[in-house]
Amino acid sequence: MTMNPRTRFSALTLSVLCLAAAGCSTVWHYVAPAETDISFYQPPTDKETFSNPVGERPKNIIVCIGDGMGINQIALARQAAVGADGRLWMERMPYTALVYTHNIRGEVTDSAAGITALMYGIKTRNDRIGQDSKGATWMSIAERLQQNGYRIGAVATSTMTHATPAGLAAHIHDRDLEAQIAVQLLESRADVLLGGGRKYWLPQPQGVRTDGRNLLAEAESAGWRIVSTREQLATAPSGRVLGFFASDAMTTLPPEPTLAEMTRAALRILSGSSPQKPFFLLMEGSQIDWCCHSNNTKAAVRQTLLFDTAVRETLEFAAADKQTLVLVIADHETGGLTLYGGGLKPNWMKTEWSSKNHSNGPVILLAFGPGAEHFTGVLDNTDIPRRIARLLGISDFPKPRQKQSAAAHAASETAQLN
Ligand SMILES: [Zn+2]
Repeated sequence: MTMNPRTRFSALTLSVLCLAAAGCSTVWHYVAPAETDISFYQPPTDKETFSNPVGERPKNIIVCIGDGMGINQIALARQAAVGADGRLWMERMPYTALVYTHNIRGEVTDSAAGITALMYGIKTRNDRIGQDSKGATWMSIAERLQQNGYRIGAVATSTMTHATPAGLAAHIHDRDLEAQIAVQLLESRADVLLGGGRKYWLPQPQGVRTDGRNLLAEAESAGWRIVSTREQLATAPSGRVLGFFASDAMTTLPPEPTLAEMTRAALRILSGSSPQKPFFLLMEGSQIDWCCHSNNTKAAVRQTLLFDTAVRETLEFAAADKQTLVLVIADHETGGLTLYGGGLKPNWMKTEWSSKNHSNGPVILLAFGPGAEHFTGVLDNTDIPRRIARLLGISDFPKPRQKQSAAAHAASETAQLN
């Protein structure tokens, strides 16, 4: 497909966003012109690589995942937005690695096995989150850090219970059980969850829960602030916040908050505790993958630039804070995207998609902040959380999960508060 700015996407274009064969649900989607508009994008004025903050050990950790974002998706977004010699924000990060993404069988991963590698440090079968191929459950790096007093949170434009954001703290054999995942995320006592998928938290008929539980009412009475608009998010206090801005996946269009606005709010909330605690944030550009499944080049560019704008928020936070490690990575590539042709000007590149599914090639990792120098070379996806743990002096990771009783959990909460 040719990237010609004068070519408008037909209003009748229907795209299959995610194929059942790839382990995603099938969604028919109308592609409006706004879904390919990249005029919002503000590239960096300075193209230099960031100089890395000096420090042995980071305090805060931010993991940014571009779902389906292979290296050619990044190059395509660069070409479309700023031309061949331009730079995206993520391309200013000083350390890089190549990361292999296959699942435990050596096959092409889905986002569930992918996030299990990236967050729990173990290989598993597709469809499983936080659970190995024998059925045992493991702690995510976020849960392990929570034991050390970290605040934890996730931001995504999919449903919050979709495979990647669920990887903050879910343990399940089937990623499609989103109503169960919602309960697990609530039980994880995550401090901040911002994204789509309100319906999985509410009983029928407002939602889809068949157990009659209203998880948002439960969360509110347990101390979370519940928000559902951009304005409410901007003024949410720095306690615990659950924000659902769509019943299903977000539209990534106004009046919703953007991924960058949600990321900025999550950083403000997570870093704003008194006394200040360290935090772990998982941020996902969820819909790059969906656009690549449908081989929709222009929409993939827009989603990658929305993600890059959110990465900018994390980099500016980390540059000011000097104690925050930011990692940008993909769980896998989607679409087998090839680039040919091109030129110095933006918006000109020829593309070819070789598939409508995920592919098995390595993806790029970019790193900035104290400890970023440990994320170089050729890595396996399971190395990412293992290296985070090592960097923070945690020797028992990957760690099998032991179910904690509610009473023990409450006691450890009280101990942390005191
Ligand atoms: Zn996918």
